[in-house]
Amino acid sequence: MQTMKITSAKFIKGVVGADTIPVDGIPQVAFIGRSNAGKSSLLNSLTSSPKLAITSSAPGRTRQINVFLINGSRYFMDLPGYGYAKAGFQTLDTLGGLISWYLFESNGNPTVVIIIDAVVGPTKDDFVMLKELERAGKDIVVVANKVDKIKKSQYKNQMNKLSEQMPGHTLFPHSAKTKTGIMELTNRLMGEG
Ligand code: GDP
Repeated sequence: MQTMKITSAKFIKGVVGADTIPVDGIPQVAFIGRSNAGKSSLLNSLTSSPKLAITSSAPGRTRQINVFLINGSRYFMDLPGYGYAKAGFQTLDTLGGLISWYLFESNGNPTVVIIIDAVVGPTKDDFVMLKELERAGKDIVVVANKVDKIKKSQYKNQMNKLSEQMPGHTLFPHSAKTKTGIMELTNRLMGEG
């Protein structure tokens, strides 16, 4: 397989409303996950650019969908995190319509990357989200993040456990610390077909 490389990442816009996502034929990849699972770190790993994090963590930018054009050939859609928010516990029901609208009602039709903390495992909210995505027939990529935190002796067990919890999905192990798994994930998201 040819190895893909991300060479450019350009911030396009922040989407707050229901009518302004790009619909121009360029495939979209949505990044979702519980807050603190490592979505910003993963985006940085993928793009090797600190610019994305600065942009996406800027005040006011965490409650919108941040749209980045990658290599001129994919949109990376950085969605708000769900789960524990600063304001307190938040379920997917109370998340506000933005995530649901974008994933399930818009014309974006994204491949959806769901980021799971590999140590914590999928949370209740992760299961809710995963089920909805499955029901909607989405192209789903499950990233098991923070694998550097798993003891070497426990690694196989933990991965097997995660696979059993999320049957039918290929797990992409990733660590923002060691950059484990970046090549495989880049190929999956940027490769043709
Ligand atoms: P987000 O809320 O999903 O965007 O999560 P962040 O990317 O801000 O990461 C949350 C916390 O987890 C931060 O303290 C990161 O440094 C840490 N973190 C993220 N990815 C990894 C990883 O792969 N390994 C380790 N050890 N820590 C990570």
